[in-house]
Amino acid sequence: MTLQEAISNYLRYAGCKQLNITTALIDCDGVLFDTMKNHTRAWVRLMQKNGIKCSRDEFYQYEGMTGTEIVKKKFKDGVGKLLTDDEALALYKVKGRYFQELGETPKIEGIDQVLEVLKQAGIERIVVTGSQQPSVLDRIDREFEGLLSEKRVTGFDVRHGKPNPEPYLKGIEKAGARAAQCIVIENAPLGVQAGHAAGCFTIAVMTGPLSEKDLYKAGADIVFPTMDALAQALPLLLNPAQ
Ligand code: CA
Repeated sequence: MTLQEAISNYLRYAGCKQLNITTALIDCDGVLFDTMKNHTRAWVRLMQKNGIKCSRDEFYQYEGMTGTEIVKKKFKDGVGKLLTDDEALALYKVKGRYFQELGETPKIEGIDQVLEVLKQAGIERIVVTGSQQPSVLDRIDREFEGLLSEKRVTGFDVRHGKPNPEPYLKGIEKAGARAAQCIVIENAPLGVQAGHAAGCFTIAVMTGPLSEKDLYKAGADIVFPTMDALAQALPLLLNPAQ
């Protein structure tokens, strides 16, 4: 699908005459940082310690849920145990320690360029993540100037993580925008579902092992193979009259 076709499709189902994007709602893991490999390793270690069967691949499918939601789901499905919020948070903190032990991961290649194109176009940039991991959230402040923490939506701000639209609806509210004025930049199916359900033009970038088909199936308006490809396409999306 071309970007022009994706825009036409979106305008049709959103009932808009033209795109007028003011805000980019940007996911964190797998979009800003190449953290998913280590997250999946840390999850498997936590589950194995607790006698719960799992594979690394399945955690790519849960990407976007809050950390405590993932812990609760795995304990319920794996050993039939219903955890309280406090118990889930305590286990998630253990997973966070395992994640930190694996060391820092690089930024996603090309993300700086994407953020720069957005900045130059005067687009407000807001991070919307299910993460509740201080080590990751602190890195955003250190490594991405201008992604303001006061407008950030994290796993601590929502009752329901992705695929529920709540995180993106909160982002739209913080931006003081309408859904049709926002693009979502995601890498995972549940995140794409959340962006689409919130009513935003939802972009997926294939930074992990999931296929283009998986991301379109989740509701992506357009899928790019790399951040560089997205950076090149952004001017057309931000100013379709060009
Ligand atoms: Ca992600």
